[in-house]
Amino acid sequence: MSKIKLYKAENEPVLGYHKGSPERKKVEETYNDMFNSKIDVPLYIGEKTVFTENKKDILPPHDHKNVVGTYSQANKEHVHEAIENLMKNKRTWSETPWEKRCEIFLKAADLLANEYRAKITAGTMIGQSKNIFQAEIDAACEFIDFLRFNVSYLTEIYNEQPVDGPGKSNNLEYRALEGFVYAVTPFNFTAIGGNLCASAALMGNVVLWKPSDNQIYTAKITMDIFKEAGLPDGVINLVTGDPEMISDIALAHPEFSGLHFTGSTSVFRDLWKKIGNNINIYRDYPRIVGETGGKDFIFCHPSANIEASATAIIRGGFEFQGQKCSAASRIYIPKSISDELISSVVDQTKTIKMGSPIDFNNFMTAVIHKNAFKRISEYIDYAKSSDDCEILIGGGYDESVGYFIEPTIILTKNHQFKTMQEEIFGPVVTIYIYDDEEWNSMLDIVDQTSDYALTGAFISDDEESIKTALNKLRYSAGNFYINDKPSGAVVGQQPFGGCRASGTDDKAGSKLNLLRWVSPRLVSRTHNPPTNYPYEYMD
Ligand code: NAD
Repeated sequence: MSKIKLYKAENEPVLGYHKGSPERKKVEETYNDMFNSKIDVPLYIGEKTVFTENKKDILPPHDHKNVVGTYSQANKEHVHEAIENLMKNKRTWSETPWEKRCEIFLKAADLLANEYRAKITAGTMIGQSKNIFQAEIDAACEFIDFLRFNVSYLTEIYNEQPVDGPGKSNNLEYRALEGFVYAVTPFNFTAIGGNLCASAALMGNVVLWKPSDNQIYTAKITMDIFKEAGLPDGVINLVTGDPEMISDIALAHPEFSGLHFTGSTSVFRDLWKKIGNNINIYRDYPRIVGETGGKDFIFCHPSANIEASATAIIRGGFEFQGQKCSAASRIYIPKSISDELISSVVDQTKTIKMGSPIDFNNFMTAVIHKNAFKRISEYIDYAKSSDDCEILIGGGYDESVGYFIEPTIILTKNHQFKTMQEEIFGPVVTIYIYDDEEWNSMLDIVDQTSDYALTGAFISDDEESIKTALNKLRYSAGNFYINDKPSGAVVGQQPFGGCRASGTDDKAGSKLNLLRWVSPRLVSRTHNPPTNYPYEYMD
């Protein structure tokens, strides 16, 4: 097999959005236009866009009385129709030359980088309440990077071929899975929504996409971009509505071949159980890929730089209101630097401004919806009423205009305190102070405190301690950061995913993930086939 040409992707530069910059002006104008108008999001089934009678409102979390649109709710027939339509298009798409598939998704990346950049970042600010920087690194850069790097990985994968034998040519054909892929995506990253569909579709699969109810605003923009880039109708069908009903139908279909999930651990476990119960129905053993929750740590060694630690705690804990799966939420600080480090973190946290994302001074905005607001404020109330901790700063919340929760820092005397163990998914970090001489044995406690193992950071200026931490925390995190916050993975640089309760560690933004969406066929051709059965040694 001759090699195909490798495609070399590069990371999309992050725009600055400085005062007076053209990109800032454009996003502000686009935001205001979008915020003051309404969209109506249909279901996408083949060439049809279906607007149902049964609709729900789309509400910006930071201003939940301002309806910016509605979206249609699918019924059972719509879901069946969406799957049948995918299966009708399956063959044509999987037989579409890989060069054409790559061209479509590279075109989508270019549209995102240019014509659609302001729209998708403004949409992410409105629909998911990200500030401009968080919207830019997600909806523009990370999404673009996923699309371009996936093309690069495809070319690498297709080049991985067996050797030829004497008189034989061997070839691995990276077939798409035989049925359809079901993509179920979370609210917190526009890029993840797009990538969970696009990665499987790039490899030749047809995809049923069920986005989060709280990411529909930008899911529509994503579908518009895919269409404009030339993706044929019926390669990715989008259905919105009751997630359980949609999942029950998709997972009970004989043609179900793979689940590409990102979201909470409990939902993923439920879906896995359903797949297990349906195992006799399927033609294939389905691929199950799930990236789920986290309880991500920052461990400051006694040699840690104080300002670097403070920055990692504040950025890691409070960016996007702590709603990243990788957000820092349990912090271990040695006694010797605790006074200075904690004062620095508290003083800096006092300066954090919170409000609408269209005010670029705001570092934080609102949390995603009423249920999240309730869940996070209940954790804060629990801490307020507990004798095991004190609240150093924050603790306030107000949902009158938007779902605003103050950045909150808890100091606990109990390293097994509830907020050291459970995923809160909000702007709440808990600090535990340990005795310096116990730093090594504390690593065992870090490892055993939570069921999750997504990300973690170790801050230290001592090389030996870094080696020890890497060994002791080998299975405590799928993404391990030294001297930085545990969030902010960049596609192509830090492939992302965790183990234990945090997921199947299939590393989104890497070749490993794409390999889950192919079912290779080995084709071996014999040039001069033997024409009689006895072997030479028998003479
Ligand atoms: P979620 O679990 O509430 O929702 C995720 C998806 O599952 C949504 O599309 C939702 O509609 C669907 N869903 C909800 N209930 C369902 C049900 N009963 N049956 C079938 N589908 C159902 O998660 P979320 O609030 O959107 O996202 C936050 C969670 O995602 C956090 O736990 C976070 O850690 C995790 N997350 C993980 C990663 C990662 O890479 N590990 C990345 C982003 C988010």
